Amino acid sequence: MSIAASPSVPVTTGSTAVPPNTTATSGHLDFSQLTDQQFMVAADHMGLEQEIQVILRSPYRELVVQIPVRMDDGQLAVFYGYRVQHNGVRGPYKGGIRYHPEVNLNEVRSLAALMTWKTALVDVPFGGAKGGVTCDPHRMSRQELQAMTRGFAQKIDMALGVYRDIPAPDVNTNAQIMAWIMDEYGKKHGYTPAIVTGKPLNLGGSLGREEATGRGTMIITREAWREMGGDLRGATVAIQGFGNVGSWAARLFHECGAKVQAVSDVNGGVFADAGLDLDRLTEHCKQTGSVVGFDGTRAIDNGELLSLDVDILIPAAMGGAITKANVEQVNARLVVEAANSPVTPEADEILERRGVTVVPDILANAGGVTVSYFEWVQNLQQFHWSLEKVNTELEQRMVAAWQRVYQRHQDDNITLRTAAYVEAIDKVAAATRLRF
Ligand code: NAD
Repeated sequence: MSIAASPSVPVTTGSTAVPPNTTATSGHLDFSQLTDQQFMVAADHMGLEQEIQVILRSPYRELVVQIPVRMDDGQLAVFYGYRVQHNGVRGPYKGGIRYHPEVNLNEVRSLAALMTWKTALVDVPFGGAKGGVTCDPHRMSRQELQAMTRGFAQKIDMALGVYRDIPAPDVNTNAQIMAWIMDEYGKKHGYTPAIVTGKPLNLGGSLGREEATGRGTMIITREAWREMGGDLRGATVAIQGFGNVGSWAARLFHECGAKVQAVSDVNGGVFADAGLDLDRLTEHCKQTGSVVGFDGTRAIDNGELLSLDVDILIPAAMGGAITKANVEQVNARLVVEAANSPVTPEADEILERRGVTVVPDILANAGGVTVSYFEWVQNLQQFHWSLEKVNTELEQRMVAAWQRVYQRHQDDNITLRTAAYVEAIDKVAAATRLRF
């Protein structure tokens, strides 16, 4: 969890009634355009019929809601929240909820579309959705976060449902936030654990869910690296982001014998030539809230992390990390997108030209939604799986997805990203044709 409750810090975000941010983009990037561009490359390659393109390019439903919250200092803050349901032809809408100051409708739209392709790619019977609230959770107390989360859950209640739309955690949200959403939903609809995934174990969460995205990233990296003639044992790795995805990926790479030489978070990074001691680093992070200042390491910034001379680079933080401006500094041979949209299309093209392999987000971080599916299944059956079963099923699905994508990449002589989109779009398009 990366939410630091700090009740004494005055809250500025959302403290005045500002209109919802429906058109602005995070920084200078229009994520919605970026995802659409990736979709169109694959759609053109497949010769996808126009009428199916129209359906698959735009979201099915978008909700923008106002969330007034009485803050600890007595002031009324007005937050804005979003839930975008991109496509539900293959099953209930599924996707995480993000809390971040830069959350906006365009970004949520793009992330919702990515979920449609991700669920199809790993062949779980879900559609794609995403949600978010524009807020700065690091500057909110636990009480304020709970009030905002419950307010958001009430406002989007009409769009949720066990067979309609099932949220999960994403950036700055975690099992506790899922518990509050489940509790709020339960007040109206009765005990419904399957309404969210990524819940605490004591409320019906699944073993293996917390580490699932990082585990999926490790499995896909291992397969890709093997295809490139390598072995994770002894491979050098740098990871941007040390939250849920980055920290679990780091530990799992280490378990496989890889040397995780550098990690970073929003405050900066650390480097150790011989590899980081991840148990001690995790402890340091728990105590200080950041990787920065970890003993026996050299301090680096996020720019330097991306340029390190490592075998494998894992962007596991925010979108738009590798752009036209910094892509020439990337020295790794393999970039695995654990984050959503960390490589912009221009940067992607440059990496391709330079012979750097990029494994796309919809494959590299699909482990999370895969185990979310297992959690949902367990909740519906009121039955628990062992950790071994969860991990074995995850391994099988991720490897199968990798093999389908790799085969398509080779058969059609297209990038791994386009191959992943083609595989995913194919499934969603087939279901769409049957429905209309
Ligand atoms: P998190 O909130 O747990 O962690 C985010 C990490 O990124 C933190 O260490 C934070 O300090 C760091 N960070 C934030 N801004 C940064 C910046 N500008 N530069 C460097 N580091 C920065 O979030 P998470 O759940 O680990 O998600 C990380 C990424 O993975 C996101 O892109 C998310 O959409 C994607 N993802 C997450 C899941 C999941 O199951 N949690 C599933 C699929 C994809």
